[in-house]
Amino acid sequence: MDMTEFCRSLASRASTVEGRRALFRREVRSPRYRGAVHLAALLSTCVGCAALALLAVESWGALEYWAIASELLLSSVVVYFGHRYPMHRPVRGLQWVYDLHTRFHHMVFSASETELDSIDDICMVMFPVRDILGMCVVVAPLLSVPWLLLGGLDPALAFAATGHLFYLSYELIHLAAHGRVGGPLDSVPGLGFLLRHHRRHHAWSVMHQRNFSMIFVGWDWLMGTLARRR
Ligand SMILES: [Zn+2]
Ligand SMILES: [Zn+2]
Repeated sequence: MDMTEFCRSLASRASTVEGRRALFRREVRSPRYRGAVHLAALLSTCVGCAALALLAVESWGALEYWAIASELLLSSVVVYFGHRYPMHRPVRGLQWVYDLHTRFHHMVFSASETELDSIDDICMVMFPVRDILGMCVVVAPLLSVPWLLLGGLDPALAFAATGHLFYLSYELIHLAAHGRVGGPLDSVPGLGFLLRHHRRHHAWSVMHQRNFSMIFVGWDWLMGTLARRR
């Protein structure tokens, strides 16, 4: 069964989170899949690309810092609005995004069942390896072209490296939110708040309305979509 068909039928084929996870493991996840390899691919690709870009910057000045700021703004906007709209409302041409997020990711977790059962289930949270490669090797360099044309190579490299590291942070924070509830990461100031912020989003009663940010929660506050209470 292909992933689209699987996502669209998932909620009707199993009524519990546990049952849906079992179906995914049996019908979609490859028997050869290893979460540790997936995680290693994420870390090595993002850190490797960011390091190469940062090492190639010849001099740092105002332009490079503006490039970093512009990338953080762009990424936080993409995360918030990408999550709020195509991921939670079907958009023509981007239906697959809705299927993967609302019909799959949200169906294998609930407000009271946000924890992953094992590291080999992290593919229920993270983007696949081909998307990670696409994001780092194609999307980040392409988005840095305006800076290349306007400011030269150094700000473009700073922009791309920030994109790699922002994307890595997004994936790791999302993964941590699906880690152990009440674990040591929950007590880290700032990070613990972000993890609880995303777990609240997994309540089926609020998932289409609240807590779409992952790193810059200010967007939820600004747009009036912050869930204040459990
Ligand atoms: Zn999630
Ligand atoms: Zn969501």
